[in-house]
Amino acid sequence: MAAILIDGAAIARELYADFKQRVSALGSRGVRPGLAAILIGDNPASEVYVRTKTRACAEVGVHSVQHRFGVDCPEREVVELINCLNADPAIHGILVQLPLPPRLNAERILQSIAADKDVDGFNWTNLGAMVAGHTLLAPCTPLGIMTMLDREGIALEGRNAVVIGRSVIVGKPLALMLIARGATVTVCNSKTRDLRQYTSLADILIVAAGKPGVVDGSMLKPGAVVIDVGINRLPDGKLTGDVDFASASLVASRITPVPGGVGRMTVAMLIANTVTAAERSIGAG
Ligand code: NAP
Repeated sequence: MAAILIDGAAIARELYADFKQRVSALGSRGVRPGLAAILIGDNPASEVYVRTKTRACAEVGVHSVQHRFGVDCPEREVVELINCLNADPAIHGILVQLPLPPRLNAERILQSIAADKDVDGFNWTNLGAMVAGHTLLAPCTPLGIMTMLDREGIALEGRNAVVIGRSVIVGKPLALMLIARGATVTVCNSKTRDLRQYTSLADILIVAAGKPGVVDGSMLKPGAVVIDVGINRLPDGKLTGDVDFASASLVASRITPVPGGVGRMTVAMLIANTVTAAERSIGAG
């Protein structure tokens, strides 16, 4: 069997058409969604991510601003800026590009973003709401994966979903979203004994380990849907996922590529959250 590719870039393009309409509807009410990105230090990958997000904003008409700090900046200055942005009516979404220099307390910085402007969905209010089955502003990567599964018409209720990875930004919130939709969910981590025992039962397998080749075709249930979240840079500079694509695509029914899969959806969901936050700011969301 040769798996059908789930084209994240194509799904994102369709979503952008919808975002443009929502931005235009907001414009007719005198509101332009605004996103502030905070970049600290000089991590080259972070530069690329922020540039991609800024381009996506421009594409749909979201106003975007960047605030940059040197690697040695005091934490207090970052929190002061966030407090100003929290109070700025022209800004509806605030993101702090991760990772931060280890000297800074990322948790303290992220938690200073107001919950209704927390478009990355890392604020404890937004994360906690998911435990109670509500979605306020959800983390972009899990939200993008759920949107992708829905757009592809993949049923979740009653199906075995296995998530590899338990991070706060991907694995844990994704597990909560899948549970809310009636999937039977297993979450694996680096201590899991015999990963294959779980992956071989998965109707839907989502891999977010940050380890190239952690899953290959021999570990899959025939016909499984495979979502590869991993983004790993190989020594030759190429990007690769966590799944061995060549062998997995012979066993899976559908599979996401890297790049061109989940990453595109993550950026699209950042825009979705920013537009939603702007709509809510005028009671329209
Ligand atoms: P993370 O915080 O490092 O978490 C990785 C998780 O995978 C941990 O829970 C870890 O277990 C688990 N793990 C590691 N090795 C494993 C193994 N051999 N078997 C089973 N579980 C294993 O990473 P993250 O931030 O969630 O990101 C994961 C990957 O997704 C990275 O490649 C990252 O670049 C990528 N990512 C992509 C997007 C996107 O938009 N496409 C967005 C975010 C992240 P322990 O908890 O036991 O350590």
